Amino acid sequence: MNDVLKKINDPYLLFQIERVSSFHGYLSTGAFIGIQMLNIAKRVLNADSGEQLYVTCETYNCLPDPFQILAGCTIGNKKLKIRDYGKMAVLVNKRAPDGQTLIRSVRIVLDPAKTAQYPRLHDWYMKTGNITHKEAVSILIDAGESLYKYKIIDIELQEKPEKRIALCDNCGESFVRKNDGPLCQECMENIGVLKE
Ligand SMILES: [Zn+2]
Repeated sequence: MNDVLKKINDPYLLFQIERVSSFHGYLSTGAFIGIQMLNIAKRVLNADSGEQLYVTCETYNCLPDPFQILAGCTIGNKKLKIRDYGKMAVLVNKRAPDGQTLIRSVRIVLDPAKTAQYPRLHDWYMKTGNITHKEAVSILIDAGESLYKYKIIDIELQEKPEKRIALCDNCGESFVRKNDGPLCQECMENIGVLKE
């Protein structure tokens, strides 16, 4: 992989790759795609470095890791959501100013119509061939950020419901209440209340 990375002149991109590689374990194709998507999102949304971002990744595969380690979006701070549609796509927005209910977001997708022009990468994308990460990343570096399509979307922010805590009638443990029932989710599942 190191000889492939020699093609990169941008020291900031090299720094990003180094951090993501050590966090993710290695530089996978998907992790590199996540870095490119993050950089596109920052540019399109005009985000300063250090500005808080929120991301929804449409797959568990690789994409979330660059956003975690480079943009501080984590599951625990709720700045990272995963909607597992199995797509190489992300939806990114900045923090909404107080009192604002619409927030400008960008959805970025690795575009199969564009990867089709790079048959080896397209084979990786469609799983129609055996391509190493090294070869796929090399093609992505050559293509720059030209293989993505993105769309700006204004998203309506949901009002946060007040967090209510209750003690479960069955197990006695405290839980965050999502409805008015007396049982926690776990007990409802175990007892079969939720099963059809
Ligand atoms: Zn319970």
